[in-house]
Amino acid sequence: MGIIEPAVRLRPRTEPSDPAETGVLTVDLSALAENWRTLARVAGDAECGAVVKADAYGLGLAPAMRALLLAGCRTFFVANVLEGEAARMVAPDATIYVLDGLVPGAARRLMAADLIPALGSLGEIDEWAATGRRPKAAIHFDTGMNRFGVPIHEAAQAADRARHITPTLVMSHFVSSQMRDEPRNERQIEAFLDARARFANIPASMSNSSAVFLPQRPHFDLIRPGYALYGGNPTPYAECPVRPVARLKARILSVREIEPGVCVGYDALWSAPKRARIATIGVGYADGVPVGATACDGKTAGEALVGGVRCPFIGRVSMDYVVLDVSKAPKDAAQRGEWVELLGDEICVEEAASRAGTIGYEILTRLGMRFSRRYIGA
Ligand SMILES: *Cc1c(COP(=O)(O)O)cnc(C)c1O
Repeated sequence: MGIIEPAVRLRPRTEPSDPAETGVLTVDLSALAENWRTLARVAGDAECGAVVKADAYGLGLAPAMRALLLAGCRTFFVANVLEGEAARMVAPDATIYVLDGLVPGAARRLMAADLIPALGSLGEIDEWAATGRRPKAAIHFDTGMNRFGVPIHEAAQAADRARHITPTLVMSHFVSSQMRDEPRNERQIEAFLDARARFANIPASMSNSSAVFLPQRPHFDLIRPGYALYGGNPTPYAECPVRPVARLKARILSVREIEPGVCVGYDALWSAPKRARIATIGVGYADGVPVGATACDGKTAGEALVGGVRCPFIGRVSMDYVVLDVSKAPKDAAQRGEWVELLGDEICVEEAASRAGTIGYEILTRLGMRFSRRYIGA
């Protein structure tokens, strides 16, 4: 197992507020580890892996992987070779799968970092086999996503060609596992069982975060959650079974009173229906606050907590700033230099997403690099 660096190496910074900071992303690594244990428990006898693609859903690959390794995770999934190489630096002995599969010509790089591709076509199986020495691979079957994966009707051919490699996993991916009663889930499981039957004794994996909670319990031998580890709700039809991991705070840069009818922001999309107290905070779309959270006259959208009170976004989200109507917030909290919360226990990623017309995955993965990042609970 890799060397776990002491927590002090995880770039802790001062609490709010270092006077130079305007946006702080706090990542709670103990919540991340606890979420992994929660999923492992639900999965019963199946192994619990972790998907850490896209910089661990925007929260930081190395600190997230270290916390997951400490919690007991041994199998990781990344999207591409570059992510795999970064993951290998953190976890010298872990099993690391590359979901992209085999990009033409990338075999040497995969092998050098001991990465296992999730092969998604007969051609990929052949190209991987051609490297010799029966290299390890996952075989990804397409049960309905139609992005990639070996079609089920080619399962026999895949099994035949796989004699020249060492399959370590057969896998597939759900189209809509967050919809508990979607009949497609059952059809995908049946298709997968067909393909899997040709790979006796090879471990199987089908469940992303939401699928872990499906009534069919399609856990097989290994689950591969991502989103739920990072605090996203895998069961939108029920209470969230995991804890928030990301907390996002921004600083108030300016406060003013405006008269009724006064417009705020680009294109004057919002005008004050009555006298209002407004505050400008130091985050914008360059930091990952979606433009979709823009509030126009007659349409509310994003919200932030100011002194514990929800305050609506007003006007267009701009590159570096969002303006809030803080008329209802406590005066002492709605002051220049104070901090407001955009994500946390009260405003979860699902809520922030639905207020912006997007999904929680996009909220997490677009959290910008301009924030100061603090890792706690390591
Ligand atoms: C991203 C991904 C996952 C993880 O999905 P979550 O919904 O984030 O849990 C699992 N498997 C595959 C193939 C993926 O691409």
